[in-house]
Amino acid sequence: MKKIYTAIILFILSFQSTFSQTDYFFPGDSFDPQIPSPEEFLGYPIGEWHTRYDLIVKYFEKLDAVSDQASLKTIGYTHEHRPKIILTITSAENMANLEEIRLKQLQLADPSQGKPDVSAMPAIIHLGYGVHGNEPSSAEAAMLSAYWLLASQSDLAKRVREGAVVHFDPTVNPDGRDRHSLWADSNKGFPPVADPLDREHNEAWPGGRTNHYWFDLNRDWLPLAHPESQAKIKWYHQWYPNVTTDFHEMGTNSTYFFEPTKPYGSENPVVPRKNYDDINPRFAKYFSKYMDEIQSLYWTKEVFDNSYPGYGSTYPDIHGGLGLVFETASSRGHVQDSQRGEITFAFTIRNHVVNSLATLEASMDNREYMHDYLREFFESALLQGSMDPAKNYVFGDEFDESRSRLFIKFLKHHQIKVYENTSDFQTGGFSFKKGKSWIVPTNQAQYRMVRTMFEYEKEFADSVFYDASAWTMAGAFGMPFAASGSAKLGDEVTETSLPTFEYPTGKAYAYLIDWSDYYAPKMLFEMQKAGIHVEVVNRSFTATTQDGETEFGAGTLMVPLGFQKMSNQEVQEKLKEIASKTHQKVFAVQTGMNVSGIDLGSNLVGEVKKPKILMVVGSGVNSYEAGEIWHLMDMQIGMPITKINSDMLGRVNLFDYSTLILPTGNYSSQSESFTNHLKDWVNRGGTVISMKTNVLWLNRIGITKESELEFEEAPEPSELPFEVRRDYEGAKEVGGSIYMAKLDLTHPIAYGYHRETMPVYRNSSLFMAPSKNKYLTPIRYTENPHLGGYINDQNLEKLKQSASVIISLSGRGRVINFFDSPNFRGAWFGTNKLFFNAIFFGSMMD
Ligand SMILES: [Zn+2]
Repeated sequence: MKKIYTAIILFILSFQSTFSQTDYFFPGDSFDPQIPSPEEFLGYPIGEWHTRYDLIVKYFEKLDAVSDQASLKTIGYTHEHRPKIILTITSAENMANLEEIRLKQLQLADPSQGKPDVSAMPAIIHLGYGVHGNEPSSAEAAMLSAYWLLASQSDLAKRVREGAVVHFDPTVNPDGRDRHSLWADSNKGFPPVADPLDREHNEAWPGGRTNHYWFDLNRDWLPLAHPESQAKIKWYHQWYPNVTTDFHEMGTNSTYFFEPTKPYGSENPVVPRKNYDDINPRFAKYFSKYMDEIQSLYWTKEVFDNSYPGYGSTYPDIHGGLGLVFETASSRGHVQDSQRGEITFAFTIRNHVVNSLATLEASMDNREYMHDYLREFFESALLQGSMDPAKNYVFGDEFDESRSRLFIKFLKHHQIKVYENTSDFQTGGFSFKKGKSWIVPTNQAQYRMVRTMFEYEKEFADSVFYDASAWTMAGAFGMPFAASGSAKLGDEVTETSLPTFEYPTGKAYAYLIDWSDYYAPKMLFEMQKAGIHVEVVNRSFTATTQDGETEFGAGTLMVPLGFQKMSNQEVQEKLKEIASKTHQKVFAVQTGMNVSGIDLGSNLVGEVKKPKILMVVGSGVNSYEAGEIWHLMDMQIGMPITKINSDMLGRVNLFDYSTLILPTGNYSSQSESFTNHLKDWVNRGGTVISMKTNVLWLNRIGITKESELEFEEAPEPSELPFEVRRDYEGAKEVGGSIYMAKLDLTHPIAYGYHRETMPVYRNSSLFMAPSKNKYLTPIRYTENPHLGGYINDQNLEKLKQSASVIISLSGRGRVINFFDSPNFRGAWFGTNKLFFNAIFFGSMMD
């Protein structure tokens, strides 16, 4: 009795201390006083501050510590070493049987096993928050929602605890979260300033939306370029949630958005119609009910893309679950003026809290229905896969084992089954060799993801894209691939390690390293760093090596042992270590006289200097593209590059660097003294790597003289209804699509490539005419280049006549112009080598 009395007192006390909070977020609810509310734990009411990520983690640790209905797991770390956590909440009874529940869910999603009885299976719900760091309301909503689920005495909360396993991922992007939270908190006024012009509401470049490398993690569910996504996908495939949420923010003057998204135009072609036509409307009823209750405005259907598989709200749709995107008006800061008065941070948080609760209720009411759907989804995948005329996709690049294996590893991250190819054969214009090619059968549960990897889509219901309209990953990896009905499957691939090679022993005249492998540039940089003198052979040749007569392409690296600063033995030891670390095969030759082609001392062989790179970042520069380059150089080469802010260029001495990288940006405010210095530096031998539209600025300041393609435009209608203007103008954009390019294999930009054609990714509507110098447009497009994604007819005609890469000469230097995106989203492994070639062989390109 005394115990109960104490509990009541405690309850009243805690109720009083959290009165305003619980009344605003959970009116009428009562809570277990043993569970601290976020306000009690943090010492301030939610909405008053942007909570630091470490405190979010600490709060979740506290929930884990005080309750046997909560359990915390660290599933990985971000680039900046913040832990990625998942808090699981379910009844103590379910918690004791968690592994059993998980295995049953996997059995349900696996059509090769018998279907379990779903009547007693808990719903698996994954509540993901905060993928965009500067959309901060949802991570605060995560704390409140977890508190509610654990502590609320309401019937619904009890029902969810008993009938569901709920995983909270409170912040998908912790590094970006902290970047923005620090900004908003450190610029907060007392009282807070609602004027949108206040510094608090206008973050400095690059803002907190993205992760450490300025990547949008809400595009990374497919490419998995980052540890945050890798950990999340691994977790996803351990659970196959029935429902997954993804919470965002939009403009301050907007209201709230929930699914359904725009019908057809923005939906993914491999997702069953049932998801869009039946399940989404079922859930939407709950969101509208909860939003009506708090009198908050909302909208559905008009826009929001749900097609790209790398979105957090689309990937689950391709895995038998329901992915849900939510967008609230943003206070972007603590309070901001809008057309509807002041939007407070707490208001935006409450919008996401009620929709979290609505998701839980909808998931409970549709628990068995969603379980049946999960099963149906994978059964129909298997059935459709068994009838797909492609039957198998065979792939593999016989010249680049590392890239082939990176692709296998990537497929396996997505739980796609891959098998050895047991015979040599030719199909689709490629030759596939046993041991160097692999097979993905369509007849597998992940059939819909197999299509995502290997199919090109060209037909669309809509012509305006919020994002990419093509994502064929086999193309991104530059894999030769083809459908093959007759391929014979060998063993399933279980191990996906990169290749290893025996290092040649004994004396040598020189060592040779083929440039075809993905990690050859990493080996080159490691050798340069170690002080080894390396040369490049600029023609193909055949030499006698430890393997007998061996053919080498242009771009092969040569380490001449007679011209080293260190002893032969030291060179050998270092090379051996570097080769093993970078997975490269080293060939030894005993003579400079080659069997055919040029000899090793030819004038067409010369030193490769270690590059010293400066890349412009900061205000005016496209942070995504800059981040892709930074990430590439760090992760794939391990090369430090200097990132200079655009407003500091006036202070730089370019003669300290070999290469200047200009990511797409607005450089027009650069001073004349800087542009004169830049001109002088290029004229004396500097190399500029310039992306897309920058060429127009370089033209203006007199460094390049390239021209836009002249094209007779089709006549425009003289009048159109006002309401079609967005669709009509949007259809003229090239918003992320894939084309077949044609390479001049003798040009240094193409060193390491062996086939004359290759898919490239384009998301720019700039069409440049080929160079007037006939040798300097090494990459163009084929006659029929359109592989996948949306482009209108007129743009396609322009594209056919335009250039993908142009080298512009200026004095003794040059500008290497890329008009496509060779490093897009850290996923375009197939075209990365073009960029590496510009870095290492730029000075040989004219
Ligand atoms: Zn967002």
